[in-house]
Amino acid sequence: MLDWNNINTVLLDMDGTLLDLHFDSYFWQKYVPQRYAFTRGLDIPTAERLLAPIFKQHEGTLNWYCLDFWTRELDLDIAELKRDVAHLIAIKPGALEFLQRLRQLGKRCVLVTNAHQDSLALKLEHTRLDNHLDEIISAHQLGLPKEDPNFWGELQKHTAYTPQLTLLIDDNLHALRTAQQFGIKHLLAACHPDSQQPKHHTDEFVSFHEFEEITPVIDSQSIPR
Ligand SMILES: [Mg+2]
Repeated sequence: MLDWNNINTVLLDMDGTLLDLHFDSYFWQKYVPQRYAFTRGLDIPTAERLLAPIFKQHEGTLNWYCLDFWTRELDLDIAELKRDVAHLIAIKPGALEFLQRLRQLGKRCVLVTNAHQDSLALKLEHTRLDNHLDEIISAHQLGLPKEDPNFWGELQKHTAYTPQLTLLIDDNLHALRTAQQFGIKHLLAACHPDSQQPKHHTDEFVSFHEFEEITPVIDSQSIPR
């Protein structure tokens, strides 16, 4: 399915791709409304009704991913609240084996995430994903989210990569589209970001459900000497 001979760099999304999106879904859809309701003496449906348009307004922007922004906007210590439910942070089945295999094959693995530094730090602390990656880049270092068409050019200033020889794996279709416009040749959509939700279907990009489906088979000749 993937032309591994013509891929030297793999850009990987974190939430919903390497990690189960259930943590983030639960946090924003259940835990934040609960805490928002509690601190304001509201019932949960009222809190949800008040929060929905605020969330909608910032979706797909860098603010959306910024814990400092939400801490100010909601007057809740978002980083602290994330720690309360950190036991839900989980690596997707087969993700570590996939990364190990790529590195055995000499592919450079770069995490490229919209996640805020604090959120990233918490997830690395709980998963030690950093042991399996060559580099980690947060969109907040670039000042642009992956949904911005200028993101991928800006990324080259932080880490050199050849778009023709690069694979992006992401569950965010907007990010895959801007990467495609920029010229990243190999694109793969993660179709099951949240283990507690149904799988997504996309005809727009080649997609996979389980890492096992896309893990390259190794033979003695494919290992670089
Ligand atoms: Mg994602």
